[in-house]
Amino acid sequence: MAQHFLLSAESRTLSLRTIYKAGEEAAYRTFCDMRWPETDGEAVCPRCGCCEAYKITTRRKFKCKGCYHQFSVTSGTIFASRKMDFVDLLAAICILVNASKGVSMIQLSRDLDCQYKTAFVLAHKLREAMASEIHTGEVLEGHVEIDGAYFGGHVRPENRKEDRKDRRLRENRSNRRRVVVALRERQGRTLPFVAMGEDEGVALAVENVDRMASMSADEASHWDLLHDAWPVERVNHSLCYSDHGKHTNMVESYFSRLRRMVVGQHHHVSPQYLHQYANHAAWLEDNRRTDNGTLAQIMVSNAMGSPVSRNWKGYWQRAV
Ligand SMILES: [Zn+2]
Repeated sequence: MAQHFLLSAESRTLSLRTIYKAGEEAAYRTFCDMRWPETDGEAVCPRCGCCEAYKITTRRKFKCKGCYHQFSVTSGTIFASRKMDFVDLLAAICILVNASKGVSMIQLSRDLDCQYKTAFVLAHKLREAMASEIHTGEVLEGHVEIDGAYFGGHVRPENRKEDRKDRRLRENRSNRRRVVVALRERQGRTLPFVAMGEDEGVALAVENVDRMASMSADEASHWDLLHDAWPVERVNHSLCYSDHGKHTNMVESYFSRLRRMVVGQHHHVSPQYLHQYANHAAWLEDNRRTDNGTLAQIMVSNAMGSPVSRNWKGYWQRAV
């Protein structure tokens, strides 16, 4: 049998050892190269687009020769006002792309020897950068599978049997429970959304699936509406998971990754951040056959292309 890609040497093109051996200056160059690819890493003024700048080497800043604006390689990006060394940022990215089911923030903070808060915000900024690659605004084409899975809002049963409530009833459920609705192209992109109920998935499909596509769904009755717009293959999961090639197994394997990420790493996810974890898992799923050096490059490039985060800038300075 052929060797699995993840066991092959081709899948390992970057390591923490190479990052730290190359050092801070090399890491800084990597960020410059990814921020300004068209000028081979030479600074371009973010205010006026001028390509000539004075270098303030000691502070790793630039001053535009045209408009005298001072900027750094991370100005205006998701890493704006970073305090962490570039080599540590690169290490964090390496750790995050290597963790195929995500990594807990405690673990990241221990690996980087930084505060839990720092790791938490850093990872969420990187998830935002990943999301820009997932939510491109382009519709899904070809054959698209749809399904939903519930996350969060676990209600712990009372100790004594007589005190326990029927958790199947709506009034006894938690209001923190959400459903992740995922659309996935066969051999293609994964597009997750967070909703209150799985039936919202129909509207999401209308918005995000090409009219010429075909779809797959399970037996849940709210998917009947999909037949109005697309040819839909249905599979009844109470009978079988694949019915002569009709299945939703691609979207199920995405949920398998997200479920393992939530259960195994994060343990608790709040409804507020669930979409970030869903995007993270989608990014890992779509890039599962890419070597880790390329993945880290893509991630730095995404981060350098993402604007200052509205959600995460100065996050802990706000009252939380
Ligand atoms: Zn300028």
